[in-house]
Amino acid sequence: MTKRRTPIENLSGDAVDAETREIDWRDELGDDLDGFQSCEMIACYECGKKYAASLGCTECPKCGGESDPVEGPMMNYFYPCPFRGSLEAAATAIGETCLCIVELDDGTRGLALTGGGMDLSWQIARAYVSLGFLPPAHIRLPRMAGWEHYGDAAYMLKVCKASQEVMIRRASWGLADLDTMEKDRKAWHKAQRKA
Ligand SMILES: [Zn+2]
Repeated sequence: MTKRRTPIENLSGDAVDAETREIDWRDELGDDLDGFQSCEMIACYECGKKYAASLGCTECPKCGGESDPVEGPMMNYFYPCPFRGSLEAAATAIGETCLCIVELDDGTRGLALTGGGMDLSWQIARAYVSLGFLPPAHIRLPRMAGWEHYGDAAYMLKVCKASQEVMIRRASWGLADLDTMEKDRKAWHKAQRKA
């Protein structure tokens, strides 16, 4: 894969504390089949072109031919990601992964898995990066057989380290603020005693 890689400093930190949610997609979709929207890349059987399609859609926009059915989310997890722009553009951006784009009824956006496999956490992390975000810091890249050979392993390790560093910086700010409050409290009591 010779995909151009986003410089790490250009990735947003807005998803590093995103919490994975468990969602039963069949319940979520509801009887009217409108409980959420999803969009993913599929390939046309006739012309071979890949395109971003919504749940239920099978008609190729290039030739009108049939494609694989759009299955939508398969595993009952939702990975929030506050990306902007259209769902189609986002689905195109994550096209190489086994994930789809989801927008919940309340407008919350994120990702869901469309298939299984061994390296799901690598794929999830890659999908966040493809959308312009550092992956959530709780995602751990598993050491499955051959991971050292992944073409993007060096980049992905740096990306995930950057997520951890964001968390460290936030914790440091939190600590520094508490230090300042301790000092302020002592100074206040000292001033009271003098008065
Ligand atoms: Zn086609």
